[in-house]
Amino acid sequence: MLRAAETVAKTDTGLQRRDNEDSAYARSPVFVVADGMGGAQAGEVASRIAVETFEQGLPEDGSPEERLASRAREANKRIHELSRTEPERAGMGTTLTAAYVDRDDLSIAHVGDSRAYLFRDGALERLTQDHSLVDELVRRGKLTEEQAAEHPQRSIITRALGPEADVAVDTWTYPLRAGDIVLLCSDGLTSMISDERVAEVLARSTGLEEAAQGLIDEANHAGGRDNITVVLFRLEEVGPDAAVDQPTLVGITAPQVAGGAVAQRTPAPANTATSSAGTPPAAPAAAASAAEARRRRRPRLARTQGPPPSAPATGRRRHWKPVAAAVSTLIVLFLLGGGGWLASRQLFFVGTNSQGVVTIYRGLPYDLPAGIKLYESYYVSGVPVSAVPADRRSQLLNHHLRSQSDASNLVKALELGQVSR
Ligand code: CA
Repeated sequence: MLRAAETVAKTDTGLQRRDNEDSAYARSPVFVVADGMGGAQAGEVASRIAVETFEQGLPEDGSPEERLASRAREANKRIHELSRTEPERAGMGTTLTAAYVDRDDLSIAHVGDSRAYLFRDGALERLTQDHSLVDELVRRGKLTEEQAAEHPQRSIITRALGPEADVAVDTWTYPLRAGDIVLLCSDGLTSMISDERVAEVLARSTGLEEAAQGLIDEANHAGGRDNITVVLFRLEEVGPDAAVDQPTLVGITAPQVAGGAVAQRTPAPANTATSSAGTPPAAPAAAASAAEARRRRRPRLARTQGPPPSAPATGRRRHWKPVAAAVSTLIVLFLLGGGGWLASRQLFFVGTNSQGVVTIYRGLPYDLPAGIKLYESYYVSGVPVSAVPADRRSQLLNHHLRSQSDASNLVKALELGQVSR
C-alpha cells in the first residue's frame, strides 16, 4: 500500500498580477488545485470554494472517482448559486484538478486547464486533458502543439466550475508505484515553462520543497504572467500496519478571501446533478512493457507564452480583423460544443455599437462569414465614442477580453467622466 510521504503546496501571485486567484489544498490523501476567474473578489472566491468543498473530505459512498466527482459537482453548485445571488460575483468560475490516493491508485477529477502530471523514473507524463479551445483543436488534429502554444485564444477554457448549474467532470484512475511524484499545477506554471523544463526541475531537486520553489522561480523567471500554484507529493510504500492518518501538511497560502461570505456558506444539499465522465486518455497499463514504453516516451512539447492577441486600432466592429481559418474552425467548434459556449459567456469586451455608443459585449469579438456573431450586446452605455478622448480610444475600446467587473468598471468610469487624457 502506498501513501503520500512528502507533500508540498505553494502558490505565488507571479510578477504581473496584483491578486492571486488560485487556491490549493494538500492533505493526504486529498490534493487540489483550483484557478479562479472573474476578477478580484470573484475568481479567488470561486477557487477558494472549490478547495473548501474538498477540505471536508470525500463522501463515503462510491468509487474514488465517483466520490471526487461528487465533491466537484457540489463545488460547482455552490459557486454557481453564489454567482447568481451576489452581483459582484456574477460570472465567476474556477478550474479544478483534484487527486485522491487510494491504496495503490491515483484517482483524479478534472475540469478546466489546470493539470496533473506523473513524474516517474525521470520522465514526466501529463495525466489530464485541458478543457481549452486549443487543446480540443489539437485533439481533433486541427492544430499542432506548436500552433496551440502560440494561439491567441489559448487561455480560453471550455469548461469550468460555476458558470452553469451542472458540470461534466472528467475522472481517471492510474496505478501508482513507490517513488512516483505527482504534480498538480495551475496554468501559470505550464503556460510559462515547458514540460521538459518542469521535468528538469523535478529531476535536479533534492526534495519537494525545493522542487516546488524551483518551479515557481522558473515560471517567474520566464515572465510570471499569471498566478502560479504547485502541489507536489511523493509516494512511498507502507506496511499494512502503518498509520493511515498522517500529520503531514502543508502551509497552503490561501488567497485573501474577503470576509465571511465564503465561510458562512453551508455545503450544498446532496448533489443530484448528472455527471458525464469525459473520454479519458489512455490509462497507463500495468504491464512492464507499457511501463518501459512510457519511460522512453518524451515529455510533451513546450507550451510557450506568445504575445497577447493583437487588437484592431479602433472599437468599430468593421475593423475587426478577418477571421482566420484556424479561428473559424475554433468558432464552429464553439458553436457545436455547448461547453465552448459556456466559456464564451464569461468573456466580455468593450467596443462601440453601430450608433457609435460605447458598449459592453459578452462573448468573443469575432464575426463568422455566415453573419454569425460570437458576441451579444450586454450593456449600452450613455457615452458616445466622441466623448472618449481620441488618444485613449485605441487603448480603451480595443476588444481585449476582460472580466465582467473589469469591463463594467471601465464603462462606469467613462460614464462618470473619470477617464481623462
Ligand atoms: Ca491561471
